[in-house]
Amino acid sequence: MALEEYRRKRDFKQTSEPAGAQAPPGAAGNRFAIQKHHATQLHYDFRLEMEGVLKSWAVPKGPTQDPAEKRLAMMVEDHPLDYMLFEGIIPAGNYGAGTVMVWDAGTYEPLASGDAPAMLAKGDLKFRLDGKKLKGEFALVRMRSRRPGSKGNEWLLLKKKDEHAKPGWNADDYDWSVISRRSLEQIAADEGSSTWTSSKPAAGKKKLRRAPVRKAKKPSAAEKPKPRAARSTR
Ligand code: MN
Repeated sequence: MALEEYRRKRDFKQTSEPAGAQAPPGAAGNRFAIQKHHATQLHYDFRLEMEGVLKSWAVPKGPTQDPAEKRLAMMVEDHPLDYMLFEGIIPAGNYGAGTVMVWDAGTYEPLASGDAPAMLAKGDLKFRLDGKKLKGEFALVRMRSRRPGSKGNEWLLLKKKDEHAKPGWNADDYDWSVISRRSLEQIAADEGSSTWTSSKPAAGKKKLRRAPVRKAKKPSAAEKPKPRAARSTR
C-alpha cells in the first residue's frame, strides 16, 4: 500500500483522521468521494478508489458540472479507503488543520479503455461519475507545461458535454454533507465531536447540550475572517 506519505504527515494521536486500518463499509470497487476542506485555504479533495487506495487531488475552486470551466487539480498523496467517510475537524497544528465535510460520494466508471490505472499513468483519465451532486462524464488530464516552481503534480479536472452538463454550476452553492446534511459552518462549530458517525442519533442529548456553545461561537460578520487567519499550517 502506498500510504507511507499519508501516514508520515499525520500524528494519529492528535488527529481523528483514519490511519487506514479499516475498510469502509460497502463493496470495494470504483467508489469516489469528494471532501470540502476548509484548511488554510478552502478547497475540495477529489478522491477515486483505485488499487486499494484513494487517488487524490486538491481542487482549489472545486469540481463543476459546467463544461466551459477547467479546474486546476493538484495531485496529492494517496489516502486510505476509509478516509472517504472522514468528516470533522483536524486540530490546529496538524497537517491540513481545519474542517472537513464529505461533500459528495458515489461510484465512478472508467471510460475509454476501462483501465483506470493505465489511464492514470498516461495522465488522461476519463470516467463517469454517479454521485449525489456530480454526475456524468469527466476527465482528469495531467498538465504538460509546468509553471515556474511547479512540482509536476498539476492536473485539470474537466466536465465533458453530456446530458448532465450545467452551465454556471458552482460547487459552493451545495454546502451540505452527503452523510450528515450539515453545512461546513455547522461541522466547524461542532468542536466536541471530531468525527461524525452514523450511529450517533440525529438529535441526541449530546447535540442538544452543545447547541448554546455553537451559538456563542458563531462569529459576527465583522469577525468572520479571524478563524481563517488563526488556522496554522496548510
Ligand atoms: Mn485537503
